[in-house]
Amino acid sequence: MAKEYVFGVDLGGTEIKFGLFRLEKELEKELERTLIGKWSVKTNKTSNGEKVISQIAEETEKKAKEKGIDKNSVYGIGLCVPGPVDKYGLVRGCVNLGWGYKKAAEELQNITGVKCAVLNDADAAGLGEAVYGSGRKYKNIVMATIGTGIGGAVIYNGKVLSGSRGNAGEIGHFKVNINETEKCTCGKCGCLEQYASARGILNYAKENLKNYSSSLLNDISNFTVKDMAQCAQKGDELCTAAFDTAGKYIGLGLSYMAGAFDPDVFVIGGGVSNAGDVILKPVKEYFDLYSFNTESETEILPAVLGNDAGIYGACEYVMQKEDWKK
Ligand SMILES: [Zn+2]
Repeated sequence: MAKEYVFGVDLGGTEIKFGLFRLEKELEKELERTLIGKWSVKTNKTSNGEKVISQIAEETEKKAKEKGIDKNSVYGIGLCVPGPVDKYGLVRGCVNLGWGYKKAAEELQNITGVKCAVLNDADAAGLGEAVYGSGRKYKNIVMATIGTGIGGAVIYNGKVLSGSRGNAGEIGHFKVNINETEKCTCGKCGCLEQYASARGILNYAKENLKNYSSSLLNDISNFTVKDMAQCAQKGDELCTAAFDTAGKYIGLGLSYMAGAFDPDVFVIGGGVSNAGDVILKPVKEYFDLYSFNTESETEILPAVLGNDAGIYGACEYVMQKEDWKK
């Protein structure tokens, strides 16, 4: 039976996003995959996340039934997870889900009877942007996802470079301050994520608010990064300083990435990137300042796929499984 469909699944600690893609010209013509269905459900994290895999299987089977899709016409299910995935496809723990080491793809495949592949969520977002988003004109991209935490991905020659243990491109845990004594979520100190994630930007504002009595933030209770971006656009000094500090550390992190991979472009995604030039301008300025030789010519582009990057990337990851085509 002709293989006409792929599921892209983005598993998060709060919700699971699903995309159903139709392959317009079977597997021959690149970039002809159309998203024909998109939905999400709340992640069932009971019993240390033991129910998640069967939850995903049920959702895909339900959708296939609803659309009249035969299981044998599904090429595969791509699943991205919020944790490292090694070169053997073993998930090496997902703290947000309660998972330890897990053979997630194998388990999903056993339940659904459809071929499955698993990758890290930041890698999936990078692959999605590289093939369908901002990076589609390029072969080599580095993506940084700036949200509550900071994720990174390296796409080399159109493929995910995840590394031996799944840690390649983990820009969020680059050391940018060796004198820091407070701990990062990873257990070490002085990571980029501590200063430039949404959490880091908010912390900066909270710690410095007492020195900025005229800041607009004084009038907003429980302010968010979005509030801060709006205040920065109005010229608020504290908010501008907070984004400038985050931009400095991100620019430094990107300069390390440029030194290691010299990509065609950088793509910046995640919730914080919605602040636009407020964050992208200082990132670019500090990147220019810290990068070596002609690396400063590397363009820094905003991501365009938003919350869909993961499902696109998970779909693409499956499509790249050449040996499945035999
Ligand atoms: Zn860290």
